[in-house]
Amino acid sequence: MIRITRKVFTDLSIWMIGLGLLIGIIFPFFVSWMGIPAEFVLTPWFFAACITAGIIVGGINITLARTVVGSRLRLLAERMEVVTEKFLAVKRGMDIDECNPEVCMVDVDSIDEIGHSAASFNSLVETLFEALETEESLKSFTHLLGTQLSVVELTEKALDQLMTHTGSAAGAVVIEKDGELAVTTSQGIRHVNKILESDHVKSVFRSESRLRLGLPEDIYVEGVLIEFRPREVVIEPILYKDFMLGLIILASADPYSHNAISRLGLFGQNLAMALHNSLLFDRLERLAALDPLTGIYNRRFGLTRLHEEFGRALRMKVPLGLMMIDLDHFKQINDLYGHLTGDRVLIRLTKAARNVIREGDIMVRYGGEEFLGILPGASRKDVLDIADRLRRIVAETSVANGEDIIKVTVSIGGASYPENDAANEIGLIERADQALYSAKDSGRDCVVMASSD
Ligand code: GH3
Ligand code: MG
Ligand code: MG
Repeated sequence: MIRITRKVFTDLSIWMIGLGLLIGIIFPFFVSWMGIPAEFVLTPWFFAACITAGIIVGGINITLARTVVGSRLRLLAERMEVVTEKFLAVKRGMDIDECNPEVCMVDVDSIDEIGHSAASFNSLVETLFEALETEESLKSFTHLLGTQLSVVELTEKALDQLMTHTGSAAGAVVIEKDGELAVTTSQGIRHVNKILESDHVKSVFRSESRLRLGLPEDIYVEGVLIEFRPREVVIEPILYKDFMLGLIILASADPYSHNAISRLGLFGQNLAMALHNSLLFDRLERLAALDPLTGIYNRRFGLTRLHEEFGRALRMKVPLGLMMIDLDHFKQINDLYGHLTGDRVLIRLTKAARNVIREGDIMVRYGGEEFLGILPGASRKDVLDIADRLRRIVAETSVANGEDIIKVTVSIGGASYPENDAANEIGLIERADQALYSAKDSGRDCVVMASSD
């Protein structure tokens, strides 16, 4: 339609009144042509009556158009304003409040262009607010992940959020750590260890791509894995720069929506990044604290722990036991069987020592073939008992080297604060060290306690 003014309804009014005017002019000729005598119709008053009628019909048409179409367009414009305001409020940092249909949407009560526009507007609003919600939840998810450094805590929190934002009723996170798969957290799953045996889980590890398992309602699912009857299970790989870190398993009582799956994809990417950092931190922390050969605490970290334990013993007035352990004639083992075999012996004996000590006791590789046992709460008598048990177990342990059976013994010097007085933990180490020298002097393969003060 040719535009006359910048207002659609004004244009429409001009066109309709113009049309009424035209009809009013043409109509007398038309009726005359139809056979009505000209003296009746081609008269000024008949012309005036037809033109007036045409203009009135045009006017009524305009009023109807303004009422029927205009009111809907006004409602649509009002709703658009409401949606824009809410959208801007969220962008300014306010919480997304309910954009319920009465406030933000329009009724679709026709099947023409107006109804079509209303339906398109409604789905636009829905998509917009879903996208906003996803953005908001992703932000809080990323923030939450950024504050967690332990792998277990991280995956626990992530699973919680993932289940909420995808509407899942059960889920688990499997992580590959040091070449081993482990379920770090799960919710609503009955036999957690069966997850790792699942062929679907294995296939996702191989394919490194998402697997969606739709379970039709009419198929009976033996509830072995999940505590309810799921309609869909999705297994999402956690990939960081093409490197498989683990996977997320989610199950829902209803099929997943497109939106839920796209959220899972987005959240999964963020989890991958946080998990990568967490695994790296874990590894660095262990690297900094542990001796790479034996896997027990290294000297630096062990001395820090000893300092803490000595402080605790002072404060709580509880004893603190110490064993200084040294392998006897270890140089000969190296000379005879080689350094690598010597290393194997060290690893084997560390394992034996770990089995002897109690939970809460700390084994430290103090030097090459020297170990420190920190025994919180152990009196002089306790240290002697533990040290002697350790000495006996080491003497009974043998390490096979081809045809040869390697046997080693240890000498142990023991001390316990406060029965052995010391100003600090270094003083206590010196007492145990002196006792170790005495043990070596006494012929080795024995325990000597520092003399009580
Ligand atoms: P003693 O009964 O007097 O303690 O005799 P020893 O031979 O054990 O003592 P010495 O201090 O003379 O020798 C310690 C040996 O321990 C020397 C070194 O080759 C060996 N050693 C130290 N660290 C390691 C290690 O990490 N791996 C291996 N295989 N041997 C080590
Ligand atoms: Mg030695
Ligand atoms: Mg030594």
